[in-house]
Amino acid sequence: MKEIYPWQKNDWARLQELSKRPPHALLFKGAKGIGKFDLAMNFALSLLCQQPDESGFACGKCSSCHWFEQDSHPDFRLLQSELLSLDGEESDSGKKPSKQISVDQIRGLADFIGMSAHQGGRRVVIIHPAEAMNTNAANALLKNLEEPPQGLLFILVSHKPQQLLPTILSRCLSFTLPAPDMESATQWLAGQGVKNPVEALAASGFSPLQAVQLDEKLGSEERDKLLRAVRQPAALDVFALAEALQKTEQALVVQWLQQWCYDLSSMKLSGKLRYHIGEEATIKKLVEPLAPLSLALLQKHLQMAKREAQHTLNPKLFLESLLFSYCQFVQK
Ligand SMILES: [Zn+2]
Repeated sequence: MKEIYPWQKNDWARLQELSKRPPHALLFKGAKGIGKFDLAMNFALSLLCQQPDESGFACGKCSSCHWFEQDSHPDFRLLQSELLSLDGEESDSGKKPSKQISVDQIRGLADFIGMSAHQGGRRVVIIHPAEAMNTNAANALLKNLEEPPQGLLFILVSHKPQQLLPTILSRCLSFTLPAPDMESATQWLAGQGVKNPVEALAASGFSPLQAVQLDEKLGSEERDKLLRAVRQPAALDVFALAEALQKTEQALVVQWLQQWCYDLSSMKLSGKLRYHIGEEATIKKLVEPLAPLSLALLQKHLQMAKREAQHTLNPKLFLESLLFSYCQFVQK
């Protein structure tokens, strides 16, 4: 939580300047997927922390930091659309989660705004994304922005500020977050395990956080391909699969296969699964005729393959050999 993204160092320094005399309302604006919300959360945390370090980062140890971690800070409120709060899951009522921030959510702040601060006088409300407020919600918020209570900071996070009411815009100090510089963004992506950071960054429209998601999506499609095939080793077309996966990072393919084989062993020995929950019937059937020893040997084989995967010259050949071994071990 304490970490900011490497391309946000300047933004952080600017915020530290601002925090000496914070305005009543800040508008964090900038492209989607560059970490505006995370920066806002970090800034809120640092404003509320009782002992921030000299760079302004929260200590992570005080009661304020602790409350924040637990989502129970009495001087902090986060307003998001239901869709974001539920992370895309269905709500309890089974209804589709709303994309909007409702007027009731803004009105729900009344008690909070009316109270005085628990700690040191500072309080923070983050609204994310601000453009999710419908007109009624925006008008309700406006009242609060017109008569701001002492020590309360509103942070509106938005990548579509043009959709906000001009009356709201005029009451917020605009804080523009520039697009990340290429170097720190690609370095960060590489650190996240993204295979082709430059391409991923470009494909995502220079939004590092979206680049990671994009990359995961690409990865999962190939993973599905592999998992569909290994379920039926007797019907596995080694050459076709090796061809289909040859552009995927070899170590990643081995890792997926290791997780699969971990579950085969685990099923054989304890009847439990770790990675492929829901595949019980398939895996049970697959391991039934197998000796625990051949599964153990297969895992050992994969460990060696993992090391080899770092420096293979011919991915296709490497995968063919890997898949043939798999088929041999599980069809004994
Ligand atoms: Zn702290």
